[in-house]
Amino acid sequence: MNVLVLNSSYMPAGVIGWRKSIKLLFMNKADIIEPSEYMIKGINRDYVIPDVIRLKYYNRVSYTSYKYCRTNIYKRDRYRCRYCNKLLKLTGPITIDHIVPKSRGGKDTWENTITSCMECNHKKGDLTPEEAGLVITPGSLKPTYFINLATLNPKWIKYIPIA
Ligand SMILES: [Zn+2]
Repeated sequence: MNVLVLNSSYMPAGVIGWRKSIKLLFMNKADIIEPSEYMIKGINRDYVIPDVIRLKYYNRVSYTSYKYCRTNIYKRDRYRCRYCNKLLKLTGPITIDHIVPKSRGGKDTWENTITSCMECNHKKGDLTPEEAGLVITPGSLKPTYFINLATLNPKWIKYIPIA
């Protein structure tokens, strides 16, 4: 069961597992915005498992609930080339580009890998985007809340701006 996390300005900041949400509530780092119908037994009291929480003090949350894999990178980038913005299809030529090339120590991380069409990937080769004259389209490199739209909890919808 997943919990939508809002930052202190009520903007979606990520999705985390319910255990982590209980921990944030327990440490007084978040408030419950929408409770779920589920409870968890604690030692001294029971806790409501939330559907939506809001962080009190900081806007960053880790996205450990998303598996780092090719498909999720495509989903994060909405199947668009992050250089030329061309809409790509899973069935057609679609590639992952390392922003800092692997040959220069670039890692397989959310921040260093983006969806790319064949043309842009070829143009970029072993260069950095600057060297290749390519600009990355705006938008998060972190996996964000729209990844698991299929498993979207209806209670989350009013907090999620329409993309
Ligand atoms: Zn492209």
